[in-house]
Amino acid sequence: MINGSKVLDHPIRWAMVGGGKGSQIGYIHRSAALRDHSFQLVAGAFDIVPERGMAFAAELGVAPDRCYPDYKAMFAGEAKREDGIEAVSIATPNSTHYEICKAALEAGLHVVCEKPLCFTSAEAEELVALAKAKNRVVGVTYGYSGHQMIQQARQMIRHGDLGEVRVVNMSFAFGGYNVKVEDTVPAAKWRFDPSKAGPSFALGDVGTHPLFIIEAMIPDMEIDSLMCTKRAFVEGRQLEDNAFVIMNLKGTASVQDGAQVYCWASSINCGARHYHKIRVVGSKASIEWDDERPNQMSYEIEGEPVRILERGAGYLYGEARVEDRIGGGHAEGLFEAWANLYRRFALAMADADRDEYQDFWYPDVKAGAQGIKWIEKCVESADRGSAWVNF
Ligand code: NAD
Repeated sequence: MINGSKVLDHPIRWAMVGGGKGSQIGYIHRSAALRDHSFQLVAGAFDIVPERGMAFAAELGVAPDRCYPDYKAMFAGEAKREDGIEAVSIATPNSTHYEICKAALEAGLHVVCEKPLCFTSAEAEELVALAKAKNRVVGVTYGYSGHQMIQQARQMIRHGDLGEVRVVNMSFAFGGYNVKVEDTVPAAKWRFDPSKAGPSFALGDVGTHPLFIIEAMIPDMEIDSLMCTKRAFVEGRQLEDNAFVIMNLKGTASVQDGAQVYCWASSINCGARHYHKIRVVGSKASIEWDDERPNQMSYEIEGEPVRILERGAGYLYGEARVEDRIGGGHAEGLFEAWANLYRRFALAMADADRDEYQDFWYPDVKAGAQGIKWIEKCVESADRGSAWVNF
Protein backbone atom coordinates (compact mmCIF):
# COMPACT_ATOMS: atom_id res chain seq x y z
CA MET A 1 0.00 0.00 0.00
CA ILE A 2 1.23 3.51 -0.78
CA ASN A 3 1.01 5.77 2.25
CA GLY A 4 3.08 8.82 1.32
CA SER A 5 6.37 7.67 2.78
CA LYS A 6 9.50 8.60 0.85
CA VAL A 7 10.41 6.51 -2.18
CA LEU A 8 13.88 7.95 -2.78
CA ASP A 9 16.75 9.34 -0.68
CA HIS A 10 16.14 12.79 -2.09
CA PRO A 11 13.33 14.03 -4.30
CA ILE A 12 14.38 14.36 -7.94
CA ARG A 13 14.94 18.02 -8.87
CA TRP A 14 12.30 18.49 -11.52
CA ALA A 15 11.03 21.09 -13.99
CA MET A 16 8.25 21.43 -16.53
CA VAL A 17 8.17 22.69 -20.09
CA GLY A 18 4.59 23.66 -20.97
CA GLY A 19 1.61 22.80 -18.80
CA GLY A 20 1.08 26.51 -18.16
CA LYS A 21 -1.84 28.26 -16.56
CA GLY A 22 -5.11 27.17 -18.19
CA SER A 23 -3.54 24.25 -20.03
CA GLN A 24 -5.49 21.02 -20.00
CA ILE A 25 -2.86 18.63 -18.72
CA GLY A 26 -0.34 20.68 -16.72
CA TYR A 27 -1.95 20.33 -13.31
CA ILE A 28 -2.26 16.54 -13.34
CA HIS A 29 1.49 16.29 -14.13
CA ARG A 30 2.31 18.45 -11.10
CA SER A 31 -0.21 16.73 -8.89
CA ALA A 32 1.09 13.26 -9.82
CA ALA A 33 4.77 14.15 -9.62
CA LEU A 34 4.52 15.92 -6.27
CA ARG A 35 2.21 13.41 -4.59
CA ASP A 36 4.75 10.96 -3.17
CA HIS A 37 7.76 13.22 -2.45
CA SER A 38 9.57 11.69 -5.43
CA PHE A 39 9.92 14.96 -7.32
CA GLN A 40 10.47 18.55 -6.28
CA LEU A 41 9.39 21.33 -8.65
CA VAL A 42 12.38 23.71 -8.79
CA ALA A 43 12.25 25.30 -12.26
CA GLY A 44 10.00 25.79 -15.26
CA ALA A 45 9.36 27.23 -18.70
CA PHE A 46 5.62 26.77 -18.55
CA ASP A 47 4.22 28.78 -21.42
CA ILE A 48 4.72 29.74 -25.06
CA VAL A 49 4.33 33.34 -23.85
CA PRO A 50 7.44 33.86 -21.69
CA GLU A 51 6.01 36.53 -19.36
CA ARG A 52 2.88 34.47 -18.70
CA GLY A 53 4.97 31.37 -18.01
CA MET A 54 7.33 33.18 -15.65
CA ALA A 55 4.43 34.76 -13.76
CA PHE A 56 2.81 31.34 -13.40
CA ALA A 57 6.09 29.78 -12.24
CA ALA A 58 6.20 32.36 -9.45
CA GLU A 59 2.60 31.46 -8.51
CA LEU A 60 3.70 27.83 -8.23
CA GLY A 61 6.44 28.85 -5.80
CA VAL A 62 9.39 28.48 -8.19
CA ALA A 63 12.31 30.74 -7.19
CA PRO A 64 12.52 33.87 -9.40
CA ASP A 65 15.94 32.97 -10.84
CA ARG A 66 14.56 29.59 -11.97
CA CYS A 67 11.46 30.89 -13.83
CA TYR A 68 12.70 30.71 -17.44
CA PRO A 69 11.34 32.27 -20.64
CA ASP A 70 11.86 29.05 -22.67
CA TYR A 71 13.27 25.54 -22.43
CA LYS A 72 16.62 26.40 -24.03
CA ALA A 73 17.32 29.08 -21.42
CA MET A 74 16.22 26.63 -18.73
CA PHE A 75 18.45 23.72 -19.81
CA ALA A 76 21.43 26.10 -20.18
CA GLY A 77 20.77 27.92 -16.90
CA GLU A 78 20.20 24.75 -14.89
CA ALA A 79 23.31 23.05 -16.29
CA LYS A 80 25.40 25.77 -14.62
CA ARG A 81 23.98 25.09 -11.15
CA GLU A 82 25.24 22.47 -8.74
CA ASP A 83 21.64 21.89 -7.71
CA GLY A 84 20.37 21.93 -11.31
CA ILE A 85 17.37 19.94 -12.49
CA GLU A 86 17.67 16.18 -12.94
CA ALA A 87 14.40 15.58 -14.78
CA VAL A 88 11.88 17.48 -16.89
CA SER A 89 8.29 16.89 -17.96
CA ILE A 90 7.18 18.04 -21.39
CA ALA A 91 3.51 19.04 -21.65
CA THR A 92 3.49 21.18 -24.78
CA PRO A 93 1.66 20.68 -28.12
CA ASN A 94 2.73 17.62 -30.11
CA SER A 95 4.97 19.30 -32.70
CA THR A 96 7.46 20.38 -30.01
CA HIS A 97 7.90 17.06 -28.19
CA TYR A 98 10.71 15.69 -30.34
CA GLU A 99 12.98 18.74 -30.22
CA ILE A 100 12.44 19.35 -26.48
CA CYS A 101 12.85 15.66 -25.58
CA LYS A 102 16.04 15.45 -27.65
CA ALA A 103 17.44 18.63 -26.08
CA ALA A 104 16.61 17.35 -22.59
CA LEU A 105 18.34 14.02 -23.17
CA GLU A 106 21.37 15.80 -24.64
CA ALA A 107 21.44 17.92 -21.48
CA GLY A 108 21.62 14.65 -19.48
CA LEU A 109 18.10 14.91 -18.06
CA HIS A 110 15.52 12.23 -17.42
CA VAL A 111 12.30 12.99 -19.28
CA VAL A 112 8.59 12.52 -18.86
CA CYS A 113 7.03 13.31 -22.22
CA GLU A 114 3.45 13.70 -23.32
CA LYS A 115 2.19 11.51 -26.13
CA PRO A 116 2.82 11.39 -29.01
CA LEU A 117 6.56 11.22 -28.32
CA CYS A 118 7.28 12.65 -31.81
CA PHE A 119 5.94 12.46 -35.37
CA THR A 120 7.97 9.82 -37.24
CA SER A 121 9.51 6.43 -36.51
CA ALA A 122 12.91 7.83 -37.53
CA GLU A 123 12.62 10.47 -34.80
CA ALA A 124 11.37 7.87 -32.31
CA GLU A 125 14.29 5.55 -33.03
CA GLU A 126 16.68 8.47 -32.55
CA LEU A 127 15.15 9.17 -29.12
CA VAL A 128 15.29 5.49 -28.15
CA ALA A 129 19.00 5.38 -29.08
CA LEU A 130 19.76 8.70 -27.37
CA ALA A 131 18.04 7.65 -24.14
CA LYS A 132 20.09 4.44 -24.18
CA ALA A 133 23.37 6.24 -24.95
CA LYS A 134 22.76 8.79 -22.18
CA ASN A 135 21.39 6.14 -19.80
CA ARG A 136 18.35 8.29 -19.10
CA VAL A 137 14.72 7.35 -18.55
CA VAL A 138 11.98 8.59 -20.87
CA GLY A 139 8.51 7.98 -19.45
CA VAL A 140 5.46 8.62 -21.64
CA THR A 141 2.24 9.65 -19.91
CA TYR A 142 -0.21 7.05 -21.05
CA GLY A 143 -1.87 7.97 -17.77
CA TYR A 144 -4.81 5.56 -17.78
CA SER A 145 -2.40 2.63 -17.70
CA GLY A 146 -1.60 3.54 -14.08
CA HIS A 147 -5.02 2.39 -12.86
CA GLN A 148 -4.78 -0.63 -10.60
CA MET A 149 -7.24 -2.69 -12.62
CA ILE A 150 -4.84 -2.57 -15.58
CA GLN A 151 -2.28 -4.30 -13.35
CA GLN A 152 -4.94 -6.81 -12.37
CA ALA A 153 -5.77 -7.53 -16.03
CA ARG A 154 -2.06 -7.97 -16.80
CA GLN A 155 -1.68 -10.51 -14.01
CA MET A 156 -4.86 -12.37 -14.96
CA ILE A 157 -3.67 -12.74 -18.55
CA ARG A 158 -0.19 -13.71 -17.37
CA HIS A 159 -1.60 -16.40 -15.08
CA GLY A 160 -3.83 -17.81 -17.84
CA ASP A 161 -7.14 -16.89 -16.17
CA LEU A 162 -8.62 -16.02 -19.58
CA GLY A 163 -6.95 -18.85 -21.48
CA GLU A 164 -5.35 -17.73 -24.73
CA VAL A 165 -6.27 -14.23 -25.91
CA ARG A 166 -8.38 -14.39 -29.08
CA VAL A 167 -10.06 -11.02 -29.52
CA VAL A 168 -9.60 -7.51 -28.16
CA ASN A 169 -12.38 -4.99 -28.72
CA MET A 170 -11.37 -1.50 -27.70
CA SER A 171 -12.48 2.05 -28.16
CA PHE A 172 -11.64 5.57 -27.15
CA ALA A 173 -14.47 7.43 -28.83
CA PHE A 174 -15.52 10.64 -27.13
CA GLY A 175 -18.09 13.16 -28.30
CA GLY A 176 -18.01 16.91 -28.52
CA TYR A 177 -15.90 17.45 -31.62
CA ASN A 178 -18.98 16.73 -33.78
CA VAL A 179 -18.91 20.43 -34.68
CA LYS A 180 -15.92 22.60 -35.56
CA VAL A 181 -14.84 23.35 -31.97
CA GLU A 182 -11.37 24.31 -33.14
CA ASP A 183 -12.82 27.58 -34.52
CA THR A 184 -13.79 28.71 -31.02
CA VAL A 185 -11.72 26.70 -28.50
CA PRO A 186 -8.02 27.71 -28.64
CA ALA A 187 -6.77 24.42 -27.08
CA ALA A 188 -8.58 22.45 -29.84
CA LYS A 189 -7.16 24.54 -32.69
CA TRP A 190 -3.69 22.97 -32.93
CA ARG A 191 -5.11 19.46 -32.73
CA PHE A 192 -6.43 19.55 -36.32
CA ASP A 193 -3.40 21.35 -37.79
CA PRO A 194 -1.01 18.69 -39.20
CA SER A 195 2.00 20.98 -38.68
CA LYS A 196 1.30 21.00 -34.92
CA ALA A 197 -0.60 17.75 -34.30
CA GLY A 198 1.23 15.40 -36.68
CA PRO A 199 -0.23 13.06 -39.31
CA SER A 200 -3.34 12.12 -37.32
CA PHE A 201 -5.82 13.38 -34.76
CA ALA A 202 -8.15 10.61 -33.57
CA LEU A 203 -5.59 7.79 -33.87
CA GLY A 204 -2.76 9.71 -32.23
CA ASP A 205 -4.62 11.76 -29.67
CA VAL A 206 -6.89 9.04 -28.36
CA GLY A 207 -6.26 5.72 -30.19
CA THR A 208 -2.77 5.36 -28.74
CA HIS A 209 -4.20 5.28 -25.20
CA PRO A 210 -6.11 1.97 -25.54
CA LEU A 211 -3.25 0.66 -27.68
CA PHE A 212 -0.81 1.15 -24.79
CA ILE A 213 -3.31 -0.26 -22.30
CA ILE A 214 -3.52 -3.55 -24.19
CA GLU A 215 0.27 -3.60 -24.51
CA ALA A 216 0.38 -3.25 -20.72
CA MET A 217 -2.26 -5.94 -20.23
CA ILE A 218 -0.66 -8.32 -22.77
CA PRO A 219 3.11 -7.62 -22.64
CA ASP A 220 3.94 -10.37 -25.16
CA MET A 221 1.45 -8.99 -27.71
CA GLU A 222 2.95 -8.65 -31.19
CA ILE A 223 1.06 -6.96 -34.02
CA ASP A 224 1.48 -8.84 -37.28
CA SER A 225 -0.54 -6.65 -39.68
CA LEU A 226 -3.25 -4.03 -39.61
CA MET A 227 -5.80 -2.20 -41.72
CA CYS A 228 -7.32 1.19 -41.06
CA THR A 229 -10.05 3.41 -42.40
CA LYS A 230 -10.34 7.02 -41.27
CA ARG A 231 -12.08 10.20 -42.25
CA ALA A 232 -13.05 13.68 -41.10
CA PHE A 233 -16.81 13.90 -40.76
CA VAL A 234 -16.72 17.61 -39.94
CA GLU A 235 -16.10 19.62 -43.08
CA GLY A 236 -12.86 21.59 -43.35
CA ARG A 237 -10.77 19.37 -41.08
CA GLN A 238 -7.39 18.29 -42.40
CA LEU A 239 -7.08 15.41 -39.95
CA GLU A 240 -9.47 12.57 -39.20
CA ASP A 241 -11.99 12.86 -36.40
CA ASN A 242 -12.94 9.16 -36.62
CA ALA A 243 -10.99 5.98 -37.37
CA PHE A 244 -11.39 2.21 -37.26
CA VAL A 245 -8.45 -0.20 -37.10
CA ILE A 246 -8.28 -4.00 -37.24
CA MET A 247 -5.07 -5.77 -36.23
CA ASN A 248 -3.91 -9.36 -36.59
CA LEU A 249 -1.67 -10.61 -33.78
CA LYS A 250 1.11 -13.17 -33.83
CA GLY A 251 0.86 -16.24 -31.64
CA THR A 252 2.77 -15.87 -28.34
CA ALA A 253 2.63 -17.45 -24.89
CA SER A 254 -0.63 -15.70 -23.99
CA VAL A 255 -2.04 -14.94 -27.46
CA GLN A 256 -3.57 -17.43 -29.89
CA ASP A 257 -1.97 -17.17 -33.35
CA GLY A 258 -4.19 -14.98 -35.54
CA ALA A 259 -5.91 -13.24 -32.63
CA GLN A 260 -7.60 -10.02 -33.72
CA VAL A 261 -7.92 -6.55 -32.24
CA TYR A 262 -10.55 -4.00 -33.20
CA CYS A 263 -10.08 -0.34 -32.30
CA TRP A 264 -12.49 2.60 -32.68
CA ALA A 265 -10.88 6.00 -32.14
CA SER A 266 -13.19 8.98 -32.43
CA SER A 267 -14.03 12.47 -31.28
CA ILE A 268 -17.48 12.68 -32.86
CA ASN A 269 -19.29 10.03 -30.80
CA CYS A 270 -22.15 12.34 -29.81
CA GLY A 271 -23.23 12.06 -26.22
CA ALA A 272 -20.24 10.00 -25.09
CA ARG A 273 -17.85 11.34 -22.46
CA HIS A 274 -14.88 9.07 -23.12
CA TYR A 275 -16.28 5.69 -24.30
CA HIS A 276 -12.83 4.34 -23.48
CA LYS A 277 -13.34 0.62 -23.02
CA ILE A 278 -11.22 -2.48 -23.40
CA ARG A 279 -12.64 -5.98 -23.71
CA VAL A 280 -10.19 -8.86 -23.86
CA VAL A 281 -11.71 -12.17 -24.92
CA GLY A 282 -9.79 -15.33 -24.14
CA SER A 283 -10.48 -19.00 -24.82
CA LYS A 284 -11.91 -19.45 -21.28
CA ALA A 285 -13.09 -16.04 -20.13
CA SER A 286 -13.26 -12.33 -20.92
CA ILE A 287 -12.51 -9.15 -19.00
CA GLU A 288 -13.86 -5.67 -19.66
CA TRP A 289 -12.63 -2.34 -18.27
CA ASP A 290 -14.12 1.11 -18.76
CA ASP A 291 -12.10 4.22 -17.87
CA GLU A 292 -15.24 5.97 -16.60
CA ARG A 293 -15.61 3.23 -13.95
CA PRO A 294 -11.91 2.53 -13.40
CA ASN A 295 -12.28 0.88 -9.97
CA GLN A 296 -14.21 -2.06 -11.39
CA MET A 297 -13.54 -4.68 -14.04
CA SER A 298 -15.92 -7.34 -15.25
CA TYR A 299 -14.64 -10.93 -15.32
CA GLU A 300 -16.83 -13.22 -17.38
CA ILE A 301 -16.10 -16.95 -17.30
CA GLU A 302 -18.04 -18.82 -19.97
CA GLY A 303 -21.02 -20.57 -18.39
CA GLU A 304 -20.84 -18.70 -15.07
CA PRO A 305 -22.46 -15.51 -13.78
CA VAL A 306 -20.56 -12.29 -14.48
CA ARG A 307 -18.24 -11.16 -11.64
CA ILE A 308 -17.39 -7.54 -11.01
CA LEU A 309 -13.89 -7.29 -9.57
CA GLU A 310 -13.36 -4.30 -7.27
CA ARG A 311 -10.20 -2.27 -6.79
CA GLY A 312 -8.61 -2.78 -3.39
CA ALA A 313 -10.23 -6.19 -2.79
CA GLY A 314 -8.21 -8.98 -1.17
CA TYR A 315 -8.83 -11.38 -4.05
CA LEU A 316 -6.82 -9.28 -6.54
CA TYR A 317 -3.27 -10.21 -7.48
CA GLY A 318 -0.57 -8.69 -5.24
CA GLU A 319 0.84 -6.62 -8.14
CA ALA A 320 -2.52 -4.84 -8.38
CA ARG A 321 -2.82 -4.26 -4.64
CA VAL A 322 0.67 -2.84 -4.13
CA GLU A 323 -0.50 0.57 -5.37
CA ASP A 324 -3.59 0.84 -3.13
CA ARG A 325 -3.65 4.35 -1.72
CA ILE A 326 -6.83 3.78 0.27
CA GLY A 327 -8.83 0.67 1.09
CA GLY A 328 -11.30 -0.85 -1.32
CA GLY A 329 -14.75 0.70 -1.46
CA HIS A 330 -13.26 4.17 -1.74
CA ALA A 331 -12.92 5.46 -5.27
CA GLU A 332 -9.49 6.12 -6.76
CA GLY A 333 -9.27 7.97 -10.04
CA LEU A 334 -7.13 9.38 -12.80
CA PHE A 335 -5.00 11.43 -10.40
CA GLU A 336 -4.03 8.28 -8.50
CA ALA A 337 -3.36 6.45 -11.80
CA TRP A 338 -0.97 9.23 -12.86
CA ALA A 339 0.65 9.30 -9.42
CA ASN A 340 1.28 5.55 -9.73
CA LEU A 341 3.04 6.13 -13.05
CA TYR A 342 5.10 9.06 -11.76
CA ARG A 343 6.11 6.90 -8.79
CA ARG A 344 7.35 4.24 -11.19
CA PHE A 345 9.11 6.88 -13.32
CA ALA A 346 10.92 8.05 -10.17
CA LEU A 347 11.95 4.52 -9.24
CA ALA A 348 13.26 3.94 -12.76
CA MET A 349 15.14 7.27 -12.73
CA ALA A 350 16.74 6.54 -9.38
CA ASP A 351 17.18 2.88 -10.28
CA ALA A 352 15.92 2.35 -6.78
CA ASP A 353 15.04 -0.92 -5.12
CA ARG A 354 12.12 -2.31 -7.07
CA ASP A 355 11.39 -5.31 -4.87
CA GLU A 356 7.95 -3.99 -4.08
CA TYR A 357 7.03 -4.54 -7.73
CA GLN A 358 7.47 -8.13 -8.83
CA ASP A 359 6.60 -7.08 -12.37
CA PHE A 360 8.09 -3.60 -12.83
CA TRP A 361 6.98 -1.72 -15.94
CA TYR A 362 6.06 1.75 -17.04
CA PRO A 363 5.27 3.38 -20.40
CA ASP A 364 8.82 3.93 -21.59
CA VAL A 365 10.52 5.35 -24.67
CA LYS A 366 9.97 2.10 -26.58
CA ALA A 367 6.25 2.26 -25.82
CA GLY A 368 6.28 5.83 -27.10
CA ALA A 369 8.04 4.69 -30.28
CA GLN A 370 5.56 1.83 -30.73
CA GLY A 371 2.68 4.34 -30.65
CA ILE A 372 4.34 6.40 -33.40
CA LYS A 373 4.88 3.33 -35.56
CA TRP A 374 1.23 2.35 -35.05
CA ILE A 375 -0.01 5.80 -36.15
CA GLU A 376 2.28 5.67 -39.21
CA LYS A 377 1.08 2.21 -40.23
CA CYS A 378 -2.58 3.15 -39.72
CA VAL A 379 -2.16 6.27 -41.87
CA GLU A 380 -0.32 4.22 -44.52
CA SER A 381 -3.12 1.65 -44.62
CA ALA A 382 -5.88 4.29 -44.80
CA ASP A 383 -4.03 6.20 -47.53
CA ARG A 384 -3.73 2.98 -49.55
CA GLY A 385 -7.50 2.45 -49.53
CA SER A 386 -7.52 0.48 -46.25
CA ALA A 387 -5.00 -2.08 -47.50
CA TRP A 388 -3.58 -4.57 -45.02
CA VAL A 389 -0.03 -3.53 -44.11
CA ASN A 390 2.62 -5.53 -42.30
CA PHE A 391 3.55 -4.09 -38.95
P1 NAD B 1 -2.89 23.03 -24.12
O1 NAD B 1 -2.94 23.71 -25.44
O2 NAD B 1 -4.07 23.10 -23.19
O3 NAD B 1 -1.60 23.55 -23.29
C1 NAD B 1 -0.30 23.59 -23.84
C2 NAD B 1 0.60 24.37 -22.90
O4 NAD B 1 1.94 24.36 -23.41
C3 NAD B 1 0.22 25.83 -22.77
O5 NAD B 1 0.44 26.25 -21.43
C4 NAD B 1 1.20 26.55 -23.72
O6 NAD B 1 1.42 27.90 -23.39
C5 NAD B 1 2.43 25.70 -23.50
N1 NAD B 1 3.42 25.74 -24.58
C6 NAD B 1 3.21 25.62 -25.91
N2 NAD B 1 4.38 25.64 -26.58
C7 NAD B 1 5.35 25.79 -25.64
C8 NAD B 1 6.77 25.89 -25.70
N3 NAD B 1 7.42 25.81 -26.86
N4 NAD B 1 7.46 26.04 -24.54
C9 NAD B 1 6.80 26.10 -23.35
N5 NAD B 1 5.46 26.01 -23.25
C10 NAD B 1 4.74 25.85 -24.37
O7 NAD B 1 -2.52 21.53 -24.44
P2 NAD B 1 -2.84 20.24 -23.55
O8 NAD B 1 -4.21 19.74 -23.86
O9 NAD B 1 -2.45 20.47 -22.14
O10 NAD B 1 -1.86 19.20 -24.28
C11 NAD B 1 -0.46 19.24 -24.11
C12 NAD B 1 0.07 17.87 -24.48
O11 NAD B 1 -0.51 16.92 -23.62
C13 NAD B 1 -0.28 17.44 -25.90
O12 NAD B 1 0.80 16.77 -26.46
C14 NAD B 1 -1.45 16.48 -25.72
O13 NAD B 1 -1.48 15.48 -26.73
C15 NAD B 1 -1.11 15.88 -24.39
N6 NAD B 1 -2.28 15.39 -23.63
C16 NAD B 1 -2.16 14.20 -23.02
C17 NAD B 1 -3.20 13.69 -22.27
C18 NAD B 1 -3.01 12.37 -21.58
O14 NAD B 1 -3.97 11.74 -21.15
N7 NAD B 1 -1.78 11.90 -21.45
C19 NAD B 1 -4.40 14.40 -22.15
C20 NAD B 1 -4.48 15.66 -22.77
C21 NAD B 1 -3.41 16.15 -23.51
